[in-house]
Amino acid sequence: MSDDLSKLVAEAVGVEAAGWDLAGVIPRDLLRTLGAQGVLCAEVPAALGGRGLTSLRNGELTAATGALCSSLRSVMTSQGMAAWTIQRFGTREQRAEYLARLTGGELAAVAFSEPQAGSDLAALGTRIRPDGDSVVVDGHKVWSTAAAYADHLVVFGRFGDGAAAVLVPATTPGVRVEKVADPLGCRAAGHAGLVLEGVRLPAANVLSGTSQPLGLLTTIALSYGRMSVAWGCVGILRACLRAAAAHAKSREQFGKPLGRHQLVARHLAELLVAEQTATRVCEHASRCWDDRSAELTQAVVLAKHVAAGNAARGASVAVQVLASAGSQDGHVVARAYRDAKLMEIIEGSNEISQLMLAERVLEGVA
Ligand code: FAD
Repeated sequence: MSDDLSKLVAEAVGVEAAGWDLAGVIPRDLLRTLGAQGVLCAEVPAALGGRGLTSLRNGELTAATGALCSSLRSVMTSQGMAAWTIQRFGTREQRAEYLARLTGGELAAVAFSEPQAGSDLAALGTRIRPDGDSVVVDGHKVWSTAAAYADHLVVFGRFGDGAAAVLVPATTPGVRVEKVADPLGCRAAGHAGLVLEGVRLPAANVLSGTSQPLGLLTTIALSYGRMSVAWGCVGILRACLRAAAAHAKSREQFGKPLGRHQLVARHLAELLVAEQTATRVCEHASRCWDDRSAELTQAVVLAKHVAAGNAARGASVAVQVLASAGSQDGHVVARAYRDAKLMEIIEGSNEISQLMLAERVLEGVA
């Protein structure tokens, strides 16, 4: 079924990705249509209105999307992460209501990061305060992907003696959505900051209704995001490989195709190695996800770290192979170069991933 869904995405994107990137926006109606087809959070179980894809099949769908448009893939990551957070932490009623909405065309974004809490989410300052049958949310979030499109904001904050995620309709009084101007990459992903001032909501909007350990809450939500970003990087690498191969075959210099010059051929080999190793670590992590393996957390961090690094280096190599032909806004490798760099920052930067992996080594688990 992921092949059918990939076709739906390819038809929806057509030749528009470069134009969306330049304009910094994807038509919202198109996102709603893809959302209503269950494409944006395809792992939601069929019993809850979704497509019920395994992590592996959804990974291939995510890679196919990432190869076409990293902005759309970013929206997909946010929608999937919101759905996963609701599925894992929501009550039966919350799952039934909100997953039906997210598979019915409504859009969601996830907000952890704050001005003083980037890599260090333990510094989170947003507060969710009980007040009778309501809760009141105050805080400031930054760089929430897809928030400029979202109907629902999944906002993480301090709650009781722990933390919680609360479902905030984007039009609630006290919510201000401020779009990030001119991001380096994934320019049409709708990144926005959120100002939340005295936002009053029914207490039933707090997922699970109880407080959770902050680390548990963020790790579970971010695991989905890491998995999705990793597969998106596989897509970036596949797009770069295709573009570099086509150019190296068709462009001639010094009397022969570029690909027949050994130093250029080495670039192609490096790109293939990058794509293949990223694919294998992602497949392994998705199998761990589908098998509910104890190795899951490490496998997902490893996949994200390897795939993001490979994508950033691979996109740079692809620009090198195309040279001036790939050096303009609108070209697939120019876009990949900008998009891939951001993948080394989000869902746990390279350094934070390395610290997490090193911790496993020190614990003697890896
Ligand atoms: P900092 O935490 O200030 O880090 C700066 C640098 O220092 C980094 O290189 C970092 O790796 C390094 N560093 C920090 N601490 C350590 C340490 N202990 N040891 C070694 N190195 C360290 N947030 C959301 O909540 N939702 C989203 O949907 C979302 N989407 C995003 C999309 C994009 C394109 C971007 C750029 C960001 C997004 N973010 C999102 C925010 C993202 O999660 C943060 O940017 C990220 O966690 C890093 O935080 P920071 O930018 O504040 O960098």
